[in-house]
Amino acid sequence: MQRKQTNAISVGNVGIGGANPIRVQSMCNTDTRDILSTTAQIRQLADTGCEIVRLAVPDDKAAAALSAIREQSPVPLIADIHFDHRLALAALDAGMDGLRINPGNIGDESKVDAVVRAAQQHGAPIRIGVNGGSLEKDLLKQFGGPTPEAMVESGLRHIRMLEKRGFTDIKISLKTSSVLNTITAYKLMADQIDYPLHIGITEAGTLVRGAVKSAVGLGVLLYEGIGDTLRVSLTHDPVAEIGVAYEILRSLGLRERGPEIISCPTCGRTEIHLIELAEQVEEALRGVDEVFTVAVMGCVVNGPGEAKEADIGIAGGRDLGIIFRKGEVVRKVKGNDNLLPEFMKEIQAFLKERRS
Ligand code: SF4
Repeated sequence: MQRKQTNAISVGNVGIGGANPIRVQSMCNTDTRDILSTTAQIRQLADTGCEIVRLAVPDDKAAAALSAIREQSPVPLIADIHFDHRLALAALDAGMDGLRINPGNIGDESKVDAVVRAAQQHGAPIRIGVNGGSLEKDLLKQFGGPTPEAMVESGLRHIRMLEKRGFTDIKISLKTSSVLNTITAYKLMADQIDYPLHIGITEAGTLVRGAVKSAVGLGVLLYEGIGDTLRVSLTHDPVAEIGVAYEILRSLGLRERGPEIISCPTCGRTEIHLIELAEQVEEALRGVDEVFTVAVMGCVVNGPGEAKEADIGIAGGRDLGIIFRKGEVVRKVKGNDNLLPEFMKEIQAFLKERRS
């Protein structure tokens, strides 16, 4: 995989593009006016590994809450604004680290001037977010619908508006709910610009459907070297987006965070409650950010061998579990109910040993 070289920019203290790692983003689904719950969700996202959080700023009340939210946030925040340039100015004054706004949608030239000037003064980048569902009417007519070419042209128009004003602190996204159109649009755009690209499949769906669509779409793009930040959009708690995002990055060898849990699909040889055990181990390790491999396997015949690269693992036998490290058996645990607690003890001991 050869990553496309893009310009480096910064959102607050987080570097994007250039040689920076591919960044994981999400968006709060709390009411921005509700400072307490928005701040709590930002913390949850940050604890899970989210590096940049976007907040919707639909009105003056939401804008008025931004300063307090920004003060308490451990990660940079981006204000998501549609149409109203006053809200963009207020967000920058509140200390927001970046804007997501399309300059072509905020009205006359003087309003664009004002937003660009303020972004320059605050050192805040602007993300242009082209969405297949809200393309300009003339482009829809010219291209016969929200085609990838129409999306790219829309993005280039917004880019030109910023460049005309000497503003190049830009990131761009081209999202649709169609995986194929999204891939084509990003590939076309990546050939024409060097600005960092924020990638995502929008309105991807509920947990499983959304994760699969995102993994396919983002996986192809990342494999092609395209993408400097990403968001997995799920109709779900946004915290779940972060886990999916890291699994996509991990599967391509691009970034790692937390344990990788290998578990077998179970078969007629399985003699323990393996599905339950794998889920419990995953739950017990949630929030652990150290990188190691854990295997949860159904049988002793194939388990340790199949998972011999795992740092630590458990394989089920008849009413017992066999704990192994790198494929070598180290201990046997009797009784189904003891498997989880005893395995977790071994994992804690393994981590302690490794840290010392
Ligand atoms: Fe079946 Fe054993 Fe393979 Fe699990 S590890 S799928 S129980 S053969």
